[in-house]
Amino acid sequence: MGADSLINLHTHTKFSDGDYTPEQIALTAESNNLTHIGISDHLMTRKCNSLFAAELQPYIDRLRAMQVDYPRVQILAGVEVDTNPKRCDLSKLPIDVMNQLDYVLFEYVETEEGTSLDDLEPILSSLDVPCGLAHNDIEKNFGPWPPDSVADHIASYGVFVEINTAWPYKRDGRYFWECAERYYREFHNKVLVSVGTDVHHSLPEVYNLSKAYVFLSRTNLLGDLVI
Ligand SMILES: [Zn+2]
Repeated sequence: MGADSLINLHTHTKFSDGDYTPEQIALTAESNNLTHIGISDHLMTRKCNSLFAAELQPYIDRLRAMQVDYPRVQILAGVEVDTNPKRCDLSKLPIDVMNQLDYVLFEYVETEEGTSLDDLEPILSSLDVPCGLAHNDIEKNFGPWPPDSVADHIASYGVFVEINTAWPYKRDGRYFWECAERYYREFHNKVLVSVGTDVHHSLPEVYNLSKAYVFLSRTNLLGDLVI
């Protein structure tokens, strides 16, 4: 959990709905001095092209094998899980294989189309790897409670929270994390955070991290990164 790390834990490749190979993403990360690059392709969702359960092990093997070619950046193997029950059968997730990953992102948690943290709890507790909330509109989804209670509540599930800089994850023209700055300030020493740019179609997005890092610095969260 280094204050010196430069991470991007949210990228998609040709394994799901991204345009680039994991090698292209890793090379771009290494060339731009990232310390860690996470590949987080979609797993078992009908909303877009995604990994089938049987494809998860070969995906992990490929990501592990390519590390030797990119020695200056640590490649992390992750996935993104859609918590909409109509699009993804959460009961069929290959938990044993997922425990070989470095982390798991969950999207649409605590939204109308997704699953609550409470309902997700059995899956969270069966996973031994860090689990995080991707592009969550914290203020909207947890907002009735005051920021310190929200931090305690999220901390009780042991999940980290992502700062996602992709354009769809804004409300009233502001990123979800900008809207929720007073909540993030309460995360210090309670809830770990990650940074992700949700790369799909643009390699420069791999290293488009400065806004997120300015926010981390301003909210005193540089020491609370999950990696
Ligand atoms: Zn994504």
